[in-house]
Amino acid sequence: MDIMYRSTRSTQTRVTASRAILNGLADDGGLYVPEQIPALDIPLSKLADMTYQETALAVMRKFLTDYTEEELSYCISRAYDSKFDTEEIAPLTEADNACYLELFHGPTIAFKDMALSILPYLMTTAAAKNQEKHEIVILTATSGDTGKAALAGFADVPGTKIIVFYPKDGVSPVQERQMVTQKGANTCVIGIRGNFDDAQTGVKKLFSDRELKKELEQKGFCFSSANSINIGRLVPQIVYYVHAYGRLLSMGKISAGEKINVVVPTGNFGNILAAFYAKNMGLPIAKLICASNENKVLFDFFESGVYNRNREFHLTSSPSMDILISSNLERLIYRVAGEDAKKNSSFMESLAKTGSYEITAEMRQALSDFIGGYATEEQTSEEIRQLYEKEHYVIDTHTAVASHVYRSYRLETGDDTAAVVVSTASPYKFARSVMQSIDSSCKDLGDFELIDRLCAASGTPVPAAIEEIRTAPVLHDQVIRADEMEAAVKRFLFA
Ligand SMILES: *Cc1c(COP(=O)(O)O)cnc(C)c1O
Repeated sequence: MDIMYRSTRSTQTRVTASRAILNGLADDGGLYVPEQIPALDIPLSKLADMTYQETALAVMRKFLTDYTEEELSYCISRAYDSKFDTEEIAPLTEADNACYLELFHGPTIAFKDMALSILPYLMTTAAAKNQEKHEIVILTATSGDTGKAALAGFADVPGTKIIVFYPKDGVSPVQERQMVTQKGANTCVIGIRGNFDDAQTGVKKLFSDRELKKELEQKGFCFSSANSINIGRLVPQIVYYVHAYGRLLSMGKISAGEKINVVVPTGNFGNILAAFYAKNMGLPIAKLICASNENKVLFDFFESGVYNRNREFHLTSSPSMDILISSNLERLIYRVAGEDAKKNSSFMESLAKTGSYEITAEMRQALSDFIGGYATEEQTSEEIRQLYEKEHYVIDTHTAVASHVYRSYRLETGDDTAAVVVSTASPYKFARSVMQSIDSSCKDLGDFELIDRLCAASGTPVPAAIEEIRTAPVLHDQVIRADEMEAAVKRFLFA
């Protein structure tokens, strides 16, 4: 069965998977969604014996139906190789009654690597399949981790250029250093005076600017996106939920068919949406627990049915979740609106105009598998300390948000269904916040001293991604206002 992709905002659009990946965003500003969610066609019990790469093929071939099996196998084998520091790719670690799905063993030590190590292969394969003559320009807004993972994936990939915008004061020192030291003549990294939403809104504007599109085409370029709005990001993320289920089986934690809960630290809603798609493929998932930091717009949404971004923006210790407009929620809204593009568009229009919208009671009913929770800064820090003292397991701030939300959920409900807490970043990426939580004497230490302390405390080796930036020279130092983004793009491309 061929799966075609439609836009969440109009009924006319209908494209193949490879075309959707090339385009990134639909012309009408909507997000591409599969016409139907295919069923997982392997027996659950078999998952226990499958490698990550085999699971990836089993999942991705169901969604990306215009890629041949050979093409997908090629993309998968290139993506999930020794760039990851463990053969398991996504290991599951048990600690304090939960299983932490560690998605940070890739080249940039954040979960974005799970999708961004394969996206460049999916995209260049798509370009060849569609006889795309233009050079692909990846435009990306980042809250910190996407930027580096996308840069690492696309650096020096022939036929592509990549431009990354990040909020100058909204990322961790390690995140910023990772990006501004990026090598590769086709890369460009720019700081924005503003927050992530300003950067993301700016990028969306560039995407929907028809004049700009024409001008670029004349000069031989076309835009695409490496953000989680690209369906080529989302599909590879479904894989690790299926993989985690297999690991739980092989660890003897569950039997085939038994349901699990998943707990996901959430920002742009891509990761948890992939879990929702996995559930709709037939993976036995009971609750999808959506964990937010103090920017708890999603918690309030699941509580009240009202999405309202008109509120104070908090800079937290989990910057990759400091987001008030969760782009991928649109895909869920579209689905619970009965795949009604008109209805979805009216909500999104309201969001753009007034900053809020309210869904119907019927739609809320369809969201009953989702549970929202949030952690304050203090609770996040306390969670890191507690888990370290109890189990000597060190988690990063984002994972700690999820871990706290899960702990409270379990206390409140007594639900002891086997649970996967998604661990989205290495603690090394957020060493300052992590070390301040477990050792109050670290206050005045420098970033790399903290990293050495963390190494001693956790007993885990310092990842190569961190060692690299100790001495790497800064190669990108542009900082601009959000309204200067278009000019900056032209400067880089037309130089
Ligand atoms: C991106 C990111 C998140 C949020 O993921 P979404 O898919 O945007 O919800 C959480 N934690 C870390 C470390 C991230 O990099």
